[in-house]
Parts: sequence; C-alpha cells; structure tokens
Amino acid sequence: MISLLNLTRYYEAGERSVHALDGVSLAIAPNEFVAVVGPSGCGKSTLMHLIAGLDRPTSGEISVDGLRLTTASDADLTNFRRRQLGLVFQFFNLLPTMNVRENVSLPLLLQGVPLAECDARAEELLGLVGLTERAGHFVHQLSGGEQQRTAIARALVHKPSLLIADEPTGNLDTASADRILELLRQIAREQLATLILVTHSPEVAAAASRLIEMRDGKIVRDQVRRKDGRGIAEESR
Ligand code: ADP
Repeated sequence: MISLLNLTRYYEAGERSVHALDGVSLAIAPNEFVAVVGPSGCGKSTLMHLIAGLDRPTSGEISVDGLRLTTASDADLTNFRRRQLGLVFQFFNLLPTMNVRENVSLPLLLQGVPLAECDARAEELLGLVGLTERAGHFVHQLSGGEQQRTAIARALVHKPSLLIADEPTGNLDTASADRILELLRQIAREQLATLILVTHSPEVAAAASRLIEMRDGKIVRDQVRRKDGRGIAEESR
C-alpha cells in the first residue's frame, strides 16, 4: 500500500521556486496497475523518484508498505529499494564492465543470493524478455531497445512488490513493446505486485487499471477502470 499525503517538491531556481509537485495526495492499493500521464514538465518523474525513495519531498508524507519514506534512514531506504523495488528509468544505468547476465543478476547478488541461483534466475528473465542470445554481451554491444529490455529484466529479477517504470516501452518497436507490456502485467499479476508506469503511449495507458493525469505538479484526473458484466466501466475517484 502506497500513501501520499499533501506532497510537495519545490526546486529553487535562482530567484524563483519551481513547484514540481504541488500538493499531491494519493493512495495506491497492492496489485493496482497505474498509468501516470501528463505533459512534459508536469512532475511525473519527480513523483516517481519520491515514491522510489530516491529523493525527499519539501513537505508532506509518503509511506510504502508501512515504511515512512520521509523519516526513514538512508540505510532503511537502501534496504527498501533492494528488496521491494523494481525500477526502470529512461537512462538504464547498466554497468558497462559487466555483461548482460551479470547486470541482470546484480539485484540478487546484492541480496547475498548464491551465484548459481542468480545466474539461473537471470537466464530465466532474459528468456522472458527475448535476450537469451545476448547474455554474454556487453552493454555497448546492444541496441537501445535491447538495453531497455535488459533494464526491465534487471528490475524484475528479485521479484519486487513495487515496479516503477518511466516510459518502459519508449525505445521499443511495436512487437517488443507489446511483449514487454504483457510481461510487466503478467509478473505484476503473478507476484501481486503494484505497477506504476509513466507513459505517453495511449496503448499502455489503456492497458492500466487506473489512470492518473498530472498537470503543473497536481493530479487533475484519477480514474479507475473496473470490469463489470458490461465490460469496462470508468469511475472517478
Ligand atoms: P516530467 O517527468 O513530467 O517531465 P519532472 O518531474 O521531470 O516532469 O519536472 C517537473 C518540474 O520540475 C519541471 O518544471 C522541471 O524543470 C523541474 N525540475 C525537475 N528536476 C529539477 C531539478 N533537479 N532542479 C530544478 N528543477 C527541476
């Protein structure tokens, strides 16, 4: 369960202050699939960084599964990210000195999982994202789309309960994008994980069970789609 209460994040830029987030309150239940949309600069990335515990708000409260991120120690935040979080950002942060398999195994290695087990799980994920043949390659030998799929495999390898992805299908052709979207949904379903995707893609937004639209640091629309006997209905929150 994610709970945000009156969250603000201001940046000081010379004389003026930029209100990247301006009073966001939100509750996201386990196993929701949320698409976050809105024009560039409306605060989507700022919100994702705060939920991921990578940044701290100017004011307000955030808690994830009972951990108050606003008051948690750096060690608790690191522990939270290592165990519970899968992150796919636009710059994939893959390590150039490691091959694809090693990059994907890293979150497990950091948890102290034995090497053979890490390798086996990494191979499983590489199979799911269609990169088995690339396991021994280095990052610079991969296309942009392959790097993105590697980053997605790495985000999923430790079975996170919260997956946050910023434009996860942005660099992919339609077939790969469909496959990755289906994979994210399948994994979220199987692991009862919460999935939060920032996207400009209408297809991705349409696949979500909840649509949050932002503008100027605020939430301007929050719609839950529910399946009923007559198909998809929308209810506003
Ligand atoms: P989005 O992800 O929707 O494009 P961002 O969260 O990246 O939006 O940015 C929201 C606003 O905050 C923008 O006006 C942006 O310029 C500003 N901003 C983001 N990061 C910083 C920063 N480190 N310093 C100053 N301003 C920032």
